Amino acid sequence: MSIEKTEAVVLRAINYRDTSKIVTFYTKRYGKMSAIAKGARNPKSKFGSLFQPLNYLQIVFYRRENRELQYVSSSDFVKYFKSLTSNMDKFAIAMSLIEIVNRVMHDEEENERVFGLLVDSLSVLDKVDVLPQNVFVHFGLHLAIDLGFTPNFKDCLICRKLIDLEKERKVCYVIEKGGPLCEKCSANVNESFLFSNSALLVLQSFVRLSSEAAAKAKMEPALQNELSNFVFVYLKKHSDTLKEIRSLKFLAASK
Ligand SMILES: [Zn+2]
Repeated sequence: MSIEKTEAVVLRAINYRDTSKIVTFYTKRYGKMSAIAKGARNPKSKFGSLFQPLNYLQIVFYRRENRELQYVSSSDFVKYFKSLTSNMDKFAIAMSLIEIVNRVMHDEEENERVFGLLVDSLSVLDKVDVLPQNVFVHFGLHLAIDLGFTPNFKDCLICRKLIDLEKERKVCYVIEKGGPLCEKCSANVNESFLFSNSALLVLQSFVRLSSEAAAKAKMEPALQNELSNFVFVYLKKHSDTLKEIRSLKFLAASK
């Protein structure tokens, strides 16, 4: 057994026995991990309200390999995202991000890029003058890239010709293969996702933009919905563990 220290984001917390909690973290050094926080629900506990979903913490824990539950011995805030719990739109998106991480990532599978992406996205969501749904789109896109199923938004899957977004107002996209089809090649294809050319342009730019720049890109709600829907369908297609996401109800509600 060893004593370890790592940064972590709380994904979920459930009550355990009389006064404790079982907390699922996404950690920087150990990936997803669950741990018991003894006495965390005791009003006098040193843990206070640290173990709430979305909190970004530094934790110290006793680690034993191959054990399902570790023990947290101490913890503190790295940064407190104040507006995430007071603004309903931000809260819904923030919860969907941690739910996706919780579903997609496996236990003790460390991925510092995904950790960085999560912390960065939550930090940007916490800022003023950001469009929460843009953060979701940017996060989903970059999660796909970090996990190795990078989508292509530029050239036709079959003939490799660049998609002419000036000419093609609607573009067929094959979610499974992660790429678009030109007008000619899409003629005989039934199963595909239909994109507007403006959605494809935004996605091309979001691949390069930081989450903060993406969060500040002004756009119509209809376009935001088209993008969120694509990102969700894309992640779902490429991950077995992402079925229904409760906190993503905003997609259906906002249509
Ligand atoms: Zn083609």
